Amino acid sequence: MKIEKSKSLFSRAKNYIPGGVNSPVRAFKAVGGDPIFFKSASGAYMYDEDGNKYIDMINSWGPMILGHAHEEVEEAIIKAVRNSPSFGAPAERELLIAELICEMVPSVERVRMVNSGTEATMSAIRVARGYTGRDKIIKFDGCYHGHGDSFLIAAGSGAMTMGTPNSPGVTAGTAKDTLQANFNDLEGVKQVVADNKDEIAAIILEPVPGNMGCVLPQQGFLEGLRQLCDEEGIVLIFDEVMSGFRLAKGGAQERLGVIPDMTTLGKIIGGGMPVGAYGGKKEIMDYVSPQGPVYQAGTLSGNPVAMAAGHTILNYLYDHPETYGKLESNTKKIVAGYKETLDVLGLDMTINQIGSMYSLFFTDSQVTDFESAKKCDTAAFGQYFNLMLQHGIYLAPSQFETLFVSAVLSDEDIQDIISANDECLRAVMDV
Ligand code: PMP
Repeated sequence: MKIEKSKSLFSRAKNYIPGGVNSPVRAFKAVGGDPIFFKSASGAYMYDEDGNKYIDMINSWGPMILGHAHEEVEEAIIKAVRNSPSFGAPAERELLIAELICEMVPSVERVRMVNSGTEATMSAIRVARGYTGRDKIIKFDGCYHGHGDSFLIAAGSGAMTMGTPNSPGVTAGTAKDTLQANFNDLEGVKQVVADNKDEIAAIILEPVPGNMGCVLPQQGFLEGLRQLCDEEGIVLIFDEVMSGFRLAKGGAQERLGVIPDMTTLGKIIGGGMPVGAYGGKKEIMDYVSPQGPVYQAGTLSGNPVAMAAGHTILNYLYDHPETYGKLESNTKKIVAGYKETLDVLGLDMTINQIGSMYSLFFTDSQVTDFESAKKCDTAAFGQYFNLMLQHGIYLAPSQFETLFVSAVLSDEDIQDIISANDECLRAVMDV
């Protein structure tokens, strides 16, 4: 495979951009080799600077659920740009997307738009703190909530991949207000709450974590957290930046039937444009300025181009609920193909899947939390990743990321993914 142009662009980029990239995992550091520079993408495929074509299994880390350059989204963006890329003043589209989010996401009665998932989570905990008058939050090891200081404590995703789950630069003062718990360990959370009685403002979690690979909540875990938060006056925040509009039109909360007090959103909500949002019960969101005293603002928040893209993709998902059936069946076919390979090769590897999120873990142990995810053979994953790339399959360049299946994969694409996986596993696992 020819990748000269990507290599040359990366070596130039390293002279001007830290590590040559604008977000760490993109540098392929965890998997070895140089990152691919992309030129265009359409539907299920991405095309790099050297002319190679890939089936995209990460879809811009989630947003491109309908594939790249979706016609309706593209047209909405172009139309909005022609009306001016930014007003910095209210516009109807902000109302339309807010109405739709409140309709789609069960916990959301009021919603504020921001520009990224990071802003959404940072703002949500500030509101929870303002509302409860308490300082501490509980986060789960291996969950990632963006790069806000309070969350870079045993963080998943790139922080985990780069070996910096606790980032330098986060002050001890900030870190002490973030208490840690293990995902799926309800008794452990209860203990942390008991040890910090009446001091915890919020429990924040990805209801279905994707940032230590795809991890499933065990029966009763989310329900138990809901009950605990009710009993203790703690704000339960579901970070649905990944799972929102993906696991169902109302996200993981709709699919799993546990309704948080607040929800953070990102990725799909912007249709590929930089958008995040946080919302929840009216009583809590009424604390947000100018309605209430908790300050949060943004020059480009509710940007018309971003709102046009987001509103169009959410509308599409709302009007086409059959998309979720297609996403699920695409993913199940891929996972069934992987399982057949594992059976034939006599390999004991773990696959976690829900809806259109899945991970193949390079371990024979079950992966249910941060500790079990860390048992994976990341060196073997790195080899596998690079071989898959040579077979034209673009995976997330880290073991600790879920994959995101799009609705536009054809049966032929799915067969190509399954065959590539078979060949690459044979090579890496030497069977
Ligand atoms: N929360 C979750 C669950 C995420 O997966 C991410 C990003 N992957 C974020 C928050 C942060 O979002 P952003 O990168 O848009 O700041």
